Amino acid sequence: MIQIDTTSHCNLKCHFCARSKPEYEDVIPINTELGWDDFLTTIHSVNEYLEKNGLEKTCILHGAGEPLLWKHYREGLLYARKLGFDTKLITNGILLKDELADFVIENITFGLNVSINAATPETYREVCGFSDPERIFSNCRSLLEKMRKSEKRPRRVTFSLVETDKNRHEVQRFRGMWAEYRDIVKVAIIPDIFRQKEGAFTPDINGTCVRLKPHSFKILQNGDVLPCCMSRFLPLGNIRKQSMEEIAGSVVYQSMQALNEAGKLGAIYECSKLCLNKPA
Ligand code: SF4
Repeated sequence: MIQIDTTSHCNLKCHFCARSKPEYEDVIPINTELGWDDFLTTIHSVNEYLEKNGLEKTCILHGAGEPLLWKHYREGLLYARKLGFDTKLITNGILLKDELADFVIENITFGLNVSINAATPETYREVCGFSDPERIFSNCRSLLEKMRKSEKRPRRVTFSLVETDKNRHEVQRFRGMWAEYRDIVKVAIIPDIFRQKEGAFTPDINGTCVRLKPHSFKILQNGDVLPCCMSRFLPLGNIRKQSMEEIAGSVVYQSMQALNEAGKLGAIYECSKLCLNKPA
């Protein structure tokens, strides 16, 4: 899965999001957008690399914000489809209604995840800071009704809740909310990946990662290429200055692959801290 960061505008303020964490303040730009010409450079470069190496072509136009706020979202998605990419969308669902919902049902092929994060308006307000959560619940119900009648839909549809101290008590209720649509949508309860425990962190060099694949990179708005969707601090190269072929062949990326194969990926500090050696 190639992730192209398109916008860091967001219409929510979720308390678990990296945007709300002080330690990410300097690395997550707020309210910036990828320009159309830079998008074209990126998608063509990625496409050439994936095709040349016979790799899976799936993309998600998603950065540190709500993807549907990117002003080129529709044309960008259609462009990717025209190049033969499978497409994925993760959205908070605020804008997912009427004609835009039809567009998504028609053009998202691989997977759609609506990140909802609560079962009641009170908890939603607390977790996501939005004053009209009923709008999202109603958008989600009407999306599922549309899908029920449509011949086309994404291969996998998920409604998710990132479990935190503020919404844990609603997990069962959240599952129940979507039970009558279980033929269409799966419910996913997701751990809060940005949760950090107080106290010292001791890295462990052991570990492997299934996300470290030669067809899975994240590309930031400034062109920096990262090895996976989780990373923020490990630029391998820059797509405006180098080909994807060069970036994938870089010493850092090849070393990461070798460490992964040896089961020692935790030797990479960010892997160990962010994913492999999470404090309990
Ligand atoms: S940071 Fe490392 S362990 Fe985490 S997803 Fe990326 S490659 Fe995998």
